[in-house]
Amino acid sequence: MKDLIYLSYSEIKKKLNDGSITSKDLVSSYLKRIEDTDSKIKAFLAIDKDKILKQAEESDKRRKEGKQLSLYDGIPIGIKDNICITGEITSCSSKILENFVSPYDATVISKLKDKGFVFFPRLNMDEFAMGSSTENSAFQTSKNPFDPERIPGGSSGGSAAAVAASMLPVSLGSDTGGSIRQPASLCGIWGLKPTYGRVSRYGLVAYASSLDQIGPFSNDMEGISDLLEILSGLDPKDQTTAKVNPFEAKSVTEMDWKGKKIGVMKTEEFNFSDDVNKRYLEVLKSLEEKGATLVPLDFSLLKYAIPVYYLIATAECSSNLSRFDGIRYGLRKEGSGKLDDLYAESRTAGFGNEVKRRILLGTFSLSSGYYDAYYGKAQKARVLIRKQYAEFFKSVDVILQPTSPTTAFKVGEKTKDPIQMYQADILTTSVNLSGVPAISCPAGLNKNGLPIGIQLTTSHFDEVTLLSFAKALSNLEICKTPLPKEIS
Ligand code: GLN
Repeated sequence: MKDLIYLSYSEIKKKLNDGSITSKDLVSSYLKRIEDTDSKIKAFLAIDKDKILKQAEESDKRRKEGKQLSLYDGIPIGIKDNICITGEITSCSSKILENFVSPYDATVISKLKDKGFVFFPRLNMDEFAMGSSTENSAFQTSKNPFDPERIPGGSSGGSAAAVAASMLPVSLGSDTGGSIRQPASLCGIWGLKPTYGRVSRYGLVAYASSLDQIGPFSNDMEGISDLLEILSGLDPKDQTTAKVNPFEAKSVTEMDWKGKKIGVMKTEEFNFSDDVNKRYLEVLKSLEEKGATLVPLDFSLLKYAIPVYYLIATAECSSNLSRFDGIRYGLRKEGSGKLDDLYAESRTAGFGNEVKRRILLGTFSLSSGYYDAYYGKAQKARVLIRKQYAEFFKSVDVILQPTSPTTAFKVGEKTKDPIQMYQADILTTSVNLSGVPAISCPAGLNKNGLPIGIQLTTSHFDEVTLLSFAKALSNLEICKTPLPKEIS
């Protein structure tokens, strides 16, 4: 029973379908693992054992009667705490929504329910998905399973840590500027941000609407492809979903590197830590040996990605978070009884410091007199970054970069300096600004046993190529990344 938690997603899928395991046994093993381990990792904000077991029993019953909903019936999946599930608290790790019970399902949740997945909700995150370490959660900081003195990345740190600690095989996160890829990288697993418009955002609590996408984490590549197929598609409830050819997992096949053009960074121009730099160059060398051609790209625009991202994301968040006013949702502080005081006091008590900082920044850059100089200029620079990617893909098949400039940092190391924390997103934010898809794949461990991740990027809606490259990369010997069995 204990070993069930160490199965990969694809082994779980196979065993559930050939009848060699039941969903109840599997789910019980994960619940036990969570009981034994999560006091150290703090990935979950809450766990309702009975509710979870009941879903597994129902799934087994369906299979027994030959009425399984799909090949995925009974597979456990974790859900980040900003994705709405009917009847569950969706707090976004914020005090302002601490007791908010969602009255409806996000589209991604309805799709997973239709297939029979077993939900493990309430994975910890940075408050409203603002952060790179989960240290901005109002409730707890999640820890990295490879070294619990370190952060798991963020904002979807709970989703990544739960999979890396073998508490789940797959989970959902959201990615506005790297929040799936960066924690996947720091936790040694796979994490995909789909093309903007591929997956519905209906029922995802908005941070920055023009950048947000929901995507999967998995302990193998098959989990990523399967989940993308299930989650994606046009949704009348989200007008930004695109009418494109559906993504089919079966179209993903291992890419042959021979003759492929790989866009790469000139590492001298960037400040990567030595371990990340070294592994990146080793990976590139082995791809060259397999017949790929490396094409150095001019990433000089990348230096604008952080300021442009933080102007646009904060502007959108200041608008999106105006709905949390103490009237319609969540926490209310009556104050003096005057309406303005109620707004001010509810928001003062309900939001944490980072969220307040971003609302202030965003409100400032949108205010009259400053709009053109900041927000307007950021929008123009965003267009340039988008064009830059289109240009890149005229000459390369895929771009390969480190996902994060460093491996996981220590809890508390960057909390005093927000700018330094924002720099952790240097390689991921430009992807959201241009809307293209990108995946972080594990690329082995450094000499201290910490995971390194490699980010692959392709052009809009070309996830088949992206995942085919990711599959090939993941089969390289130097990219093998064992997950920790014992967590100390
Ligand atoms: N770390 C980035 C931020 O704080 C990205 C967050 C995200 O992708 N949700 O905004």
